[in-house]
Amino acid sequence: MGAVGRSHVGVLAKVRDPMADSKTILVLGGGVGGVATARALRKRLPRQHRVVLIDRERDHVVAPSLLWLMVGKRTAGAISRPLARLARKGIDVRLQAMNALPTTSSSRWAPIGPRN
Ligand SMILES: Cc1cc2nc3c(=O)[nH]c(=O)nc-3n(C[C@H](O)[C@H](O)[C@H](O)COP(=O)(O)OP(=O)(O)OC[C@H]3O[C@@H](n4cnc5c(N)ncnc54)[C@H](O)[C@@H]3O)c2cc1C
Repeated sequence: MGAVGRSHVGVLAKVRDPMADSKTILVLGGGVGGVATARALRKRLPRQHRVVLIDRERDHVVAPSLLWLMVGKRTAGAISRPLARLARKGIDVRLQAMNALPTTSSSRWAPIGPRN
């Protein structure tokens, strides 16, 4: 390698790959808690990190409005929204039932919440 090639190698070595520190955060459940959490994380985390929300249902339903649905004051469409819309906010939505979480020897789980 000539002198020019060596100097390029030196410059490249100093450039830090932002994806090397990339993390994926799973939000389990797309209810009001999950949607609020995913949106708050997406707002606060740099874009190199992925926020993935998993739910077995396609739509987010506003549970308190079920009372209005029951008495005919709302339609089903008026109290629900497709979770897929969160993709516009940069949240990766997966339609999947969580009966078990996939783990690999390289996975590191950092559970959070009141049960810790
Ligand atoms: C009729 C009614 C009226 C209410 N009124 C009020 C009120 O006035 N004020 C108030 O503060 N609260 C009210 N609540 C309670 C409020 O709706 C709940 O506290 C709130 O929805 C809980 O939010 P969450 O995100 O924790 O759970 P949920 O909204 O229950 O969301 C859980 C999500 O996880 C998903 N999920 C669950 N298990 C799995 C699985 N195995 N795999 C994949 N996905 C899964 C579900 O599909 C769901 O989307 C009311 C509830 C009802 C039913």
